[in-house]
Amino acid sequence: MANAFWCVVEDDRKGYPKKVTAEVLAEARRLSGGTAEAVWLTDSAQPEGLMRLAEWGATKIWLVEHAGLAPYRGEVWAPVLATLVAAQAPKAILGAVTSRQRELLARLAARLGVGFAADTVALAMDGDTLVATRPVYAGKLLSKVTWAKPPWVATLRPNVFKPAEPVAGREPVVERPAVTVPDAMLKLVERREEVSTGLPELSEAELVVSGGRGMKGPEHFVILEHLASVIGAAVGASRAAVDAGWRPHRFQIGQTGRTISPKLYLGFGISGAIQHLAGMRTSKIIVAVNKDPEAPIFKVADYGIVGDLFEVVPALTEEFKKLLAK
Ligand SMILES: Cc1cc2nc3c(=O)[nH]c(=O)nc-3n(C[C@H](O)[C@H](O)[C@H](O)COP(=O)(O)OP(=O)(O)OC[C@H]3O[C@@H](n4cnc5c(N)ncnc54)[C@H](O)[C@@H]3O)c2cc1C
Repeated sequence: MANAFWCVVEDDRKGYPKKVTAEVLAEARRLSGGTAEAVWLTDSAQPEGLMRLAEWGATKIWLVEHAGLAPYRGEVWAPVLATLVAAQAPKAILGAVTSRQRELLARLAARLGVGFAADTVALAMDGDTLVATRPVYAGKLLSKVTWAKPPWVATLRPNVFKPAEPVAGREPVVERPAVTVPDAMLKLVERREEVSTGLPELSEAELVVSGGRGMKGPEHFVILEHLASVIGAAVGASRAAVDAGWRPHRFQIGQTGRTISPKLYLGFGISGAIQHLAGMRTSKIIVAVNKDPEAPIFKVADYGIVGDLFEVVPALTEEFKKLLAK
């Protein structure tokens, strides 16, 4: 359908769409005036996953289910998606700022020879044209961009857009288009292991606790993990902590790490370098704890505590425990 807005499904690799897909679908529905279609590339989709997409408002689901799509490889997925786009001519293709989709949609736009608005934080129709707002210069400015020609390709920052409210009873309308899945040129992944921290996933978490060089060593992150487990937060880190080998790279927040927009960000022993701010300054409430009153992070913080994190973290944890026990 030529006027459709497509939402590229981000799944949990177990056959279920993730919450961020509800955010993208809601936006696609709002902008298109109701014609929001999901496009799902996967090796295995669960029937409940399809149901979830319908309940979130997908009027149609383009399902490409093929063993050759796992694990994700951009050079395999992008031509499949481009073939579908060429056949169906949607007006917009929207995805999420996740490690897979930020690559996939950039590749797609390049193949189609159209513009790509990465990391958008707002979308609006101006007459017949889509206008995207996206941070530039590490979040110092917001720029508005539009496209010279359709389809409009964009990724949306997680936790910024309101997710779709599920409406029970909507039945999924599934199309299984015949597409050729190319062979992978490279075998990049030998095996995949799920490492569960028991805490929420960083880019989707509503609460994030983050530690920097001020943590002084990997062994001290346990106090942040304890605080995080009390309030149900994810644990992130600055690049200094990651470069020191204290945390794996997937927990890095910032320009060369994850971009997050939680409801609450708590930063401990993080100075607030511009590259770090680029990944978290759109958090709704920022709390900074630093022993240096001149630390730049206080300029963006809604609340600040000048103090030693090794005293503040345990004290905060105890206070949260008391509050949550009520
Ligand atoms: C191209 C490029 C890309 C980059 N990408 C990223 C990125 O994605 N993410 C990122 O984070 N950085 C990134 N950086 C690095 C960035 O410039 C900073 O070096 C880094 O963010 C600093 O990390 P930090 O705040 O943990 O450490 P520091 O700047 O060393 O700050 C440590 C802070 O801890 C405080 N402190 C120390 N002890 C305590 C204590 N006991 N209690 C309370 N406070 C204490 C200190 O006062 C200080 O403010 C990038 C840099 C470049 C050049």
